[in-house]
Amino acid sequence: LPRTILARAAWPKHGPGLILVLHDVTELRRLETVRRDFVANVSHELRTPVAVIQAHSETLLSGALDDPKAAQNFTRGIHRNAERLTHLIADLLDIARLEADQAQVAPRHLSARKAARDAIDALHAPDDASISLEIADELHVLADPRALDQVLINLLDNALKYLPEPGPIIVRAHTPADSDHVRFEVIDQGPGIDPRHHQRLFERFYRVDKGRATHMGGTGLGLSIVKHLISAQGGQVGYEPNLPHGSIFWFTLPAAPPATSAAR
Ligand code: ADP
Repeated sequence: LPRTILARAAWPKHGPGLILVLHDVTELRRLETVRRDFVANVSHELRTPVAVIQAHSETLLSGALDDPKAAQNFTRGIHRNAERLTHLIADLLDIARLEADQAQVAPRHLSARKAARDAIDALHAPDDASISLEIADELHVLADPRALDQVLINLLDNALKYLPEPGPIIVRAHTPADSDHVRFEVIDQGPGIDPRHHQRLFERFYRVDKGRATHMGGTGLGLSIVKHLISAQGGQVGYEPNLPHGSIFWFTLPAAPPATSAAR
């Protein structure tokens, strides 16, 4: 967008002179575009599954019910799209809540290892999934337990979702030298992500391969929720390739000294 400048001139009462008031509205313009894109995306994302549900149910009512095989196919389509809507609405509500009130995050003293263990337990990963932890017992963070749980679940869920076949996933955490933040990493050996997408991964509704992601139930909102939750807790998020293939999604959270009784 070109830089926009509003100028207003006024002549003072006594003697000639000129006052110029300059407002840089570039940022306002950008926010307005982001908001408009968001509304357009939401409408599109909500309309698509609703249209499928409507079309499938009409086909069923106008005769397909009598053909058991067709009836099953159309009903499955309705079910899949209803699930998609459920996901989408849950993610949208999360985003709306986060944007309305970031202060809802209440950081506490947590054991990093225990937090990762809890997230893995809550995942209901398939039996053949292999998720291992590389986190020292004494590592502690200042974080909101529910927010950290959601971040880890979103990242692990993606790692499982985008792996073409079950492969090892590692959750690692450590405090880099000279840092007062703990760095968590969720590492997979899946397909990885082409560098041209790295910048935009954490944007709302951004999907690398839209067809594939939608097919897998993705809404394109998971990583933007992760980013919100982490920045509300004073941390950062990022992506790095896991060479030769795979992904490393990382985030940081303020480190806390180990506390014997306060850690959950
Ligand atoms: P989605 O709901 O589509 O998974 P996300 O915001 O969680 O949305 O992720 C954005 C996109 O990033 C995904 O559509 C997918 O293309 C890509 N992605 C996320 N995690 C991984 C991963 N572990 N491996 C490969 N691609 C991934």
